[in-house]
Amino acid sequence: MTRDQALALDAADALAPMRAQFSLPPGVIYLDGNSLGVLPRATAARVQAVVQQEWGTDLIRSWNSAGWMELPQRIGDKIARLVGAGAGELVVADSTSVNLFKVLSAALDMAAADAPQRRRIVSERSNFPTDLYIAEALARQRGLELVLAEADDIPALLDERVAVLMLTHVNYRSGRMHDMAALSQAAHAAGALALWDLAHSAGAVPVDLKRDGADFAVGCGYKYLNGGPGAPAFVWVHPRHAERFWQPLAGWMGHAAPFEFTPGYRPAAGIARYLCGTPAVLSLAALECGVDTVLAAEPLGGMAALRAKSLALTRLFAERVQATCPSLALVSPQDDARRGSQVCLSHPEIAYPVVQALIARGVIGDFRSPDILRFGLTPLYLRFVDAWDAAEHLRRVLDSGEWRRPEFNQRHAVT
Ligand SMILES: *Cc1c(COP(=O)(O)O)cnc(C)c1O
Repeated sequence: MTRDQALALDAADALAPMRAQFSLPPGVIYLDGNSLGVLPRATAARVQAVVQQEWGTDLIRSWNSAGWMELPQRIGDKIARLVGAGAGELVVADSTSVNLFKVLSAALDMAAADAPQRRRIVSERSNFPTDLYIAEALARQRGLELVLAEADDIPALLDERVAVLMLTHVNYRSGRMHDMAALSQAAHAAGALALWDLAHSAGAVPVDLKRDGADFAVGCGYKYLNGGPGAPAFVWVHPRHAERFWQPLAGWMGHAAPFEFTPGYRPAAGIARYLCGTPAVLSLAALECGVDTVLAAEPLGGMAALRAKSLALTRLFAERVQATCPSLALVSPQDDARRGSQVCLSHPEIAYPVVQALIARGVIGDFRSPDILRFGLTPLYLRFVDAWDAAEHLRRVLDSGEWRRPEFNQRHAVT
């Protein structure tokens, strides 16, 4: 593909107007929306209104008058539309790690009640570490076993010993996407529950939790949902399980009647019991603006249209890199059905300095230890020409050797 052909794709792109929703700094090609989504134009004014009017002027009355109390449900209902969940089934709260602790605890309680001989949590060895740490901690607490395997070996592990299959739908490093329907079905056939982390899926790929047989799900607000740094995360429990158990962080916001201030815990009905403490109102205001940027694509075909563009972008970028950068290996799947919204490349020695040199050129991706160059391509705000230009910058960094400069070889705390 030539640069002119990439420009022609942009001219014909029905989603192109979506880019105007974002405040993109000039001179930057942003390929890190899988780590921190771009700032929506609406966010600053919205947060300022919440600060000045709702907090500054209306003060504590805003819990009622501005609907602060309902934010976890209101935004939850919006995210539900993106992941195949119903209204009232999903809430926004806490971080992905904390929500995972809640749902994995509840899933293990269910398994302990229904099938106490099942003592295994199965996950993928290359799952995001926080997911594995949470599972490890719960396994230690309950005397269970965390069993890790490569993606292809997971189905063979699903047997009568397994309580919960816990997976991240799209792998954060490789960009490889699991078949949620097939694996959930395999888990159920073995009598286990299926728990999915949608951190790299929500707002990035179509997800249909109910159709595909998920029992529990969590996901992230600051990646493809553009909610801002440290945005609250979300949690979903299939309605058939939502009231079976308490989650372990039984705080007052998950109580049936928090403002009765009674000493005993009575869980709220449904998913509301997965709330714990007071909603983070400022962060929720920013998150809602971010979620709205994804929902704005609904009249243009929604997640299906975003997915089609995402696949075309990742394909274009991967093909250009393969054609022009022979020293890099393509790690993310070539098969569209298996690829999330990112392209991962590897180099055994110079992945880190190459990413730094690219960032200095305004092409922002990231490095994932030990050898991965990771590029998230967000269809809401990226153009085809951006993908083409990014690949060209990468070629120049490699051909010129500019990655050798000392400043690109110095490790920062966040990579
Ligand atoms: C980004 C990400 C997280 C982040 O968890 P936090 O609690 O928000 O820090 C968790 N799991 C996966 C799979 C992720 O990709």
